[in-house]
Amino acid sequence: MNTASQTGAGERYVLEARSVVAGYGDKTILRELDLSIRPGEIVALLGANGAGKTTTLSLFLGFLAPRSGQVRVDGRDPVADPDGARRSLAYIPENVALYEHLSARENIAYLLALADQNEPAGAIGAALGAAGLDPAAHDRRVAGFSKGMRQKVAIALATMRKVPALLLDEPTSGLDPQATVEFNRLLTQLRAGGTGILMVTHDLLSAADVADRIGFLDAGVLREEVAASGADRFDVRALHRSYGGQAA
Ligand code: ATP
Repeated sequence: MNTASQTGAGERYVLEARSVVAGYGDKTILRELDLSIRPGEIVALLGANGAGKTTTLSLFLGFLAPRSGQVRVDGRDPVADPDGARRSLAYIPENVALYEHLSARENIAYLLALADQNEPAGAIGAALGAAGLDPAAHDRRVAGFSKGMRQKVAIALATMRKVPALLLDEPTSGLDPQATVEFNRLLTQLRAGGTGILMVTHDLLSAADVADRIGFLDAGVLREEVAASGADRFDVRALHRSYGGQAA
């Protein structure tokens, strides 16, 4: 059974927000937000501080219910079916939280076991290797890991969970240029495997490097969406004007 959202045209979306109005208390943050991500597509959401980017992630995570409109994760309503939606989703926050006294391999084994998924140590090692974590670090406690290394553990976990959708919050903030390039390479691998990815970021260059579409959120409204096209993918100067323009 295909539980993913289908439009009349038969398009499948792994993350979908339709005419979503949402906020906190009597404060409205998102105003008629429409955002949809297909399998194998990377969408970056940019916007000024307070524009509603994290609020958008909270909707997909089921932390916040929309006042009106529809939110779906692989066809599941995160409020009505939180377990179903969470099973379809991996979330990598700005600072990945791991069990500090456990090794990278043990973290993954434990987090998978919590979801009733048991995998042999070799398979976990292979996933960590594919995520670019040096084999010498697989059995080291994560306490001393850098942000980039923690992200690799989180990506390996997401790969093993085979989730159709991935949410990323500020994934490249604080990463050096080489780690950013490496991280984006991992995202393109996930995309090739069919994962649909939504990242919220202030890093325009990194978004232009990896995203298929870039959306600009302005005071809770998706003001503009630009799709990659041609060999140059994006006109970075035009994107920069768009991004800077909204802050003015
Ligand atoms: P940033 O780039 O600073 O992370 P953002 O685009 O992610 O910003 P949000 O975190 O979604 O913005 O916040 C949007 C607005 O909602 C802000 O005005 C913020 O103060 C408000 N807000 C966020 N969380 C809550 C909450 N739990 N209760 C009340 N207001 C909140």
